[in-house]
Amino acid sequence: MERMQQVVGRARAAFNSGRCRPLEFRIQQLKALERMVKEKEKEFLAAIEADLHKCGWKTLTCEFVSVLEELALATGRLPSWAAPRPVGRSVLTIRDETYTCFEPLGVVLITGTWNYPFLTVMQPLVGAIAAGNAVVVKPSEISENTAQLVANLLPQYLDQELYPVVTGGVPEMTELLKQRFDHIFCITNSTVGKIVMAAAAKHLTPVTLELGGKSPCYIDKDCDLAVACRRITWGKYMNCGQTCIAPDYILCDPSIQSKVVENIKATLQEFYGADVKSSPDYERIINKRHFKRILSLLEGQKIAHGGETDEASCFIAPTILTDVSPESKVMEEEIFGPVLPIVTVKSVDEAIEFINRREKPLALYVFSNNKQLIKQMASETSSGGVTVNDVIIQYGVLSLPFGGVGNSGMGTYHGKHSFETFSHRRSYLIKDLKMDVLNLWRYPPSSQRKVDLVKFIVLKQFSKRQMALIILALLGIVTAAVIKVSFGSLPST
Ligand code: NAD
Repeated sequence: MERMQQVVGRARAAFNSGRCRPLEFRIQQLKALERMVKEKEKEFLAAIEADLHKCGWKTLTCEFVSVLEELALATGRLPSWAAPRPVGRSVLTIRDETYTCFEPLGVVLITGTWNYPFLTVMQPLVGAIAAGNAVVVKPSEISENTAQLVANLLPQYLDQELYPVVTGGVPEMTELLKQRFDHIFCITNSTVGKIVMAAAAKHLTPVTLELGGKSPCYIDKDCDLAVACRRITWGKYMNCGQTCIAPDYILCDPSIQSKVVENIKATLQEFYGADVKSSPDYERIINKRHFKRILSLLEGQKIAHGGETDEASCFIAPTILTDVSPESKVMEEEIFGPVLPIVTVKSVDEAIEFINRREKPLALYVFSNNKQLIKQMASETSSGGVTVNDVIIQYGVLSLPFGGVGNSGMGTYHGKHSFETFSHRRSYLIKDLKMDVLNLWRYPPSSQRKVDLVKFIVLKQFSKRQMALIILALLGIVTAAVIKVSFGSLPST
């Protein structure tokens, strides 16, 4: 408890010193982070390999490239992101300066997950540093090699007081959550999300919760099944299905179910060869607890492909389940493993009803050539995002806000959206002390005339031309007032 208090206290004192406010400082820290990512690439790849049996080039494409892209974007765009943004004025504030400017929130907590242990810590960290905050970083204890490396390396490159790393598990996280933060950004499952939110509520701390859930994947009869299934297979089985936006299950017409299975099987053969277990491209389940959890989801199911397991190495083969009942256990919780259930539906309306009966997902995938159908799927459902004719790839588009809705989370990140999430958008109205005559409407004594004037001005939506006329009229009034003051006292001739 005392340790957490000290860590957060030191970070707050460093934040209060004001040294992370100037943009130059933030850019310098981001460049130091970039140096760390580049110089320590090998160490990170080895740690992630030890944690997840993930081969190096996959980590490079899935985690490193995204972090480096995020860093390049933030360092390049920070001055424009942080610049004041003028906003519209009303007639009543026509002479004033009105704008918004982003300011840092203070001390923020960022917690990552084990499934992408480097990405889920570094990517939000970029946004939080760019926004000018002090950050307490808490990697997941489950990917312990990566967590330890982050704890060792981050202080070697970044300001140690502003960006401390806390390692440990649930007890450490529980103690951390008792501290007062100015924002909590947490990537986790929805059960832990509720614990985090309850703890944050005690301090009225705002939260961003990046959660998971069951992302549906609807395949229309009218689409190129070979291409659709290749993309789905790639997204479902990458990282052994342990990806928050992996397609969780397939919804399709009964008439194409067997073709979907055949296409996925052919793609699996193409990707991983005849012996998946020996493929360097196929990962393992993170630990025995998750291994057993996923196995229990297979009970009583019709396995159309896969199903082989090896507890000692936490191996579960890419598995496809057919004719899955909507009421079965595998359709209740996020699978987060290499098991793909197919639920048949007779129409797009039935698919929509199926999706809407469940919690709002993080991603919604639709494979179809039919624009009308795609539009209907999108407009009659809700989800963090919609991706058509592909999976996962939306994550890499940094201009798209990434985040869930309802049970799949709240708030967004990536690129400028991270910067905004870790900032407070402050409003500014700057007046001068001249022309107080224009404020007479608000000073006592009040009268019906003043009320009518305010109603006319405030409630009427003026066009730009009308606004120009009003400015001219105001100038006229002012000129008249000035003339009156200057010449009013002259004796008449
Ligand atoms: P995890 O077990 O590593 O937990 C994440 C953090 O929560 C850790 O720091 C851990 O110490 C802490 N924690 C765990 N239990 C706790 C408790 N009872 N009280 C307090 N703290 C606790 O990872 P996880 O939560 O299993 O992660 C997997 C989930 O994350 C999946 O649901 C996945 O979909 C989601 N996810 C979402 C995104 C996204 O960007 N939306 C990205 C990756 C993963």
